[in-house]
Amino acid sequence: MELQDIKSMTLSEIEKAFTEEKLPKFRGLQVYKWLHRGVESFDEMSDLSKDLRQKLNYKYYISVATIEQKLISKQDDTVKYLFSFRDNCCVESVVMKYKHGYSICISTQVGCKMGCTFCATGKGGFCRNLTASEMLAQIQSAQKDLKIKLSNVVLMGMGEPLDNYEQVLRFLELVSSDLGLNIGMRHISVSTCGIVDKIYDMADRKLQCTLSVSLHAPNDVDRSKTMPINNKWGVDELLRACRYYSYTTRRRISFEYAMISGVNDNDAQALELAGKLKGILSHVNLIPVNHVTGNSYYKSSAQRLEMFCSILESKGITATVRRTLGADIQASCGQLQRKYKEEVNNIESTQSNRCRSCTDCK
Ligand code: SAH
Ligand code: SF4
Repeated sequence: MELQDIKSMTLSEIEKAFTEEKLPKFRGLQVYKWLHRGVESFDEMSDLSKDLRQKLNYKYYISVATIEQKLISKQDDTVKYLFSFRDNCCVESVVMKYKHGYSICISTQVGCKMGCTFCATGKGGFCRNLTASEMLAQIQSAQKDLKIKLSNVVLMGMGEPLDNYEQVLRFLELVSSDLGLNIGMRHISVSTCGIVDKIYDMADRKLQCTLSVSLHAPNDVDRSKTMPINNKWGVDELLRACRYYSYTTRRRISFEYAMISGVNDNDAQALELAGKLKGILSHVNLIPVNHVTGNSYYKSSAQRLEMFCSILESKGITATVRRTLGADIQASCGQLQRKYKEEVNNIESTQSNRCRSCTDCK
């Protein structure tokens, strides 16, 4: 019998399963609390009988994120992890220190199907979705390793969260549960390349998390060059969904704009962007693109970033040039995993996010 993923289950699902197995309901609560305190085996659940622990061992497994690599930035306090799961698939997470506390950027998929041309993850293709428990495990492992409490979570690591929507919704429910890590929805950001139908669904659910939209260009011609998803949902359709989201939830949308020299950073593009964002409760983050080995995208100059930013502001669009944290530790999406696999597999370059022993990779 295939083991079941108990840490992805909600408290009521665990209680229901226990009742069906003729176990007392309160055991479900005990187990749930242990799981969310971050234990890695049933044997650590010291208030359960040996018998029960054995029973659980036969039926369930506990997702763990094992540290394969850890890099600490010399420039700031950013820490980057490469975690592996039980099938040896690897993903990255980054912990950043801000004035208001610690924030973690977690992955939602091993690889990504979306194929954005500037992105290291996109370059390698897709392996598999992460489960809700594997998303939680990244937070738990980082907290345990750094002996800190994380106060903010961003779903901005490897993968497209809204392409793994069911598990992401489950994760949001678990991570914000008061018997769990209890990280409030207002302290969570979900980043998307623009999966429009899911943006409407999120709005209708009135989830209180921040929506971050990776826009990176003001029109279809420019956006389709770097983001294939734009061929499915164009800029205007995406911005219509964003308007609906901010109107329905009263939440400000954060637009990510990676500044790529000579590609999306001229004055006309800034003016066009300002026009398109008019009327949306928004904030634009301008980020100098991180160069990824093998592509021809380089970051815009500091002057270009400032000019682009001031054009947006002069048109009433709030924008900031974001500082890049952990630039010395490949803190950008997918870069570490790529490098690690090149080293592990001892090959010069890999075009694939598929891990050597991942059972889901065909
Ligand atoms: N798939 C989601 C979330 C993961 S990517 C999304 O696309 O939004 C997280 C962020 O990193 C996105 O805003 C993405 O556009 C950005 N990104 C990817 N590669 C980058 C690079 N080389 N330089 C700067 N930002 C990059
Ligand atoms: Fe996927 Fe986001 Fe990278 Fe695009 S930027 S390939 S959506 S992870």
